[in-house]
Amino acid sequence: MNFDILTDNFDREHLWHPYTSATNPLPAFKVREAHGCRIVLEDGTELIEGMSSWWCAVHGYNHPVLNEAVRRQTEKMSHVMFGGLTHEPAISLGKLLLDILPEEMDRIFYADSGSVAVEVAMKMAVQYQFAAGHPERTDFVTIRSGYHGDTWNAMSVCDPVTGMHGIFGKALPVRYFVSAPKCRFSDEWRQDDISELEQMISEHGDSMAALILEPIVQGAGGMRFYHPEYLRQAVQLCRKKGILVIFDEIATGFGRTGKLFALEHAGVVPDIMCIGKALTGGYMTLSAVAATACVAETISDAYPYAFMHGPTFMANPLACAVAGASVKLLLESGWQSRVSAIESILEKELGPARQLDKVEDVRVLGAIGVIEMKEPVDMEYMQRRFVEEGIWIRPFGKLVYVMPPFIISQDELSYLASTLVRIVSEI
Ligand SMILES: *Cc1c(COP(=O)(O)O)cnc(C)c1O
Repeated sequence: MNFDILTDNFDREHLWHPYTSATNPLPAFKVREAHGCRIVLEDGTELIEGMSSWWCAVHGYNHPVLNEAVRRQTEKMSHVMFGGLTHEPAISLGKLLLDILPEEMDRIFYADSGSVAVEVAMKMAVQYQFAAGHPERTDFVTIRSGYHGDTWNAMSVCDPVTGMHGIFGKALPVRYFVSAPKCRFSDEWRQDDISELEQMISEHGDSMAALILEPIVQGAGGMRFYHPEYLRQAVQLCRKKGILVIFDEIATGFGRTGKLFALEHAGVVPDIMCIGKALTGGYMTLSAVAATACVAETISDAYPYAFMHGPTFMANPLACAVAGASVKLLLESGWQSRVSAIESILEKELGPARQLDKVEDVRVLGAIGVIEMKEPVDMEYMQRRFVEEGIWIRPFGKLVYVMPPFIISQDELSYLASTLVRIVSEI
């Protein structure tokens, strides 16, 4: 395979890619098109998509229903400001979301990306506490190994090590961190798992605006699946102390973990919730922050009688239209049986990797399969091997993982997962 023709000189010399050197970057393969579960490179090489473009493309690429939704909306209007104006795509999407979110969720704030949704949620928590007569409550508590995005406040609640707090140091606001939950999703619950959070809240709870975490599945911070009881008890502890609870469901939302939202594994409801990524089926960037009536009313009943945030592209009609079409498509797609079929195949095909010397752990939940290595992998080497074998997987650190589009066929998925294990066994 000639890798040189698969990359682009201008791109290499002038375009910054995420998390790689600008002067000596890892290769970026040039994509000609994508359809269904396939990414087609410049030379016609087809890759079976294992990443859903970072959790987003749950329906695969170039979907006729989603294409049509964008086309129809473009012909009406691509954008109007949301200050003083509203439109059908925002309204329909809002209704659809409130139908599927926990019934306590009552208000939707649209934002541009996952990180911005996290910023909005954190500001909302602080403004709620201010309005409720607690201006001293401005701190946040979270669990290690989390990931909440790359903007300032989102980064401040990411895992301090993988989130590079060492580099940004004093520029970042300081948060309270407790260990990541130790009890895994299917372990026996051990009560001592919650004691560190309990202790932290009893010492510093009076200054805390909110707890923020990813329910059940910690994504980019470590791909860990933890026990639902942790979530139940964490929520109880916060409620007793007047601390709000923010769930970041940006990665887990829309069926990925086997439930429509991961919080359903624990049967708990937060005060504020962030969704994004798969919201538009991977067509464009859009996120939403859902809040309870209590949060919205408290903020609106006190000075300045409004929540102080308003992105330029708030509720962009194109994004809302395609999100509405994507959510409907998902609900009509029989996603539960698709996700549980993916789960069984991943378990069967990835399971044998547990025997490999270099493998620390293999775990599967819903449409997420993770191989955790004992040592960090050689990204460039792995990436090339994956492309040579016709699959698209992007490892980071010790983690090699897949979260394929829900429309992947059984044959494609078996090939994807077994090829992954074969390549891992070569190292
Ligand atoms: C990806 C992600 C974000 C950030 O979303 P962006 O759209 O990349 O800003 C936040 N939280 C979680 C859990 C994520 O997986």
